Amino acid sequence: MKQQPASPSIESRLRQCGMRMTPQRLAVAELMLGAPTHMMPQEVYEILHQQLPSLSPNTIYMTLDHFEQAGLLKKIFIDGKAVFDSCTDRHDHAVCRNCGTIRDVPCGSIEHTPLTLKRWHIHAESRVWSGLCPACSEMEKPS
Ligand SMILES: [Zn+2]
Ligand SMILES: [Zn+2]
Repeated sequence: MKQQPASPSIESRLRQCGMRMTPQRLAVAELMLGAPTHMMPQEVYEILHQQLPSLSPNTIYMTLDHFEQAGLLKKIFIDGKAVFDSCTDRHDHAVCRNCGTIRDVPCGSIEHTPLTLKRWHIHAESRVWSGLCPACSEMEKPS
């Protein structure tokens, strides 16, 4: 695979996490870590499959999970579907119920885990604001 100018920093981020470099991992990393994004494994597969026809959906799932365990990505659930988020800081999401656009929403200070969750092992907490994005609400306006 040819080296792109953006590669060295992404490559070194993977190396810092002790990850062995493979063309598959590099392709996933360039797609997911190059710019802020939220993607479902299926979307990642559809994009990368054109570049690397040998990629299987299973490899994509495993690579994304691997990245999540290494702390490079965050796994969130929206409508019960796993979505991988390139921003690993704590934040909420707004989701457009028409076009599926996902927007990051900054959230306030870290709240304490509610007492009812005392016996749970909580990995993450995020709120989903559901509604229509500006483009979709514009379309829904009666003319
Ligand atoms: Zn929308
Ligand atoms: Zn996000």
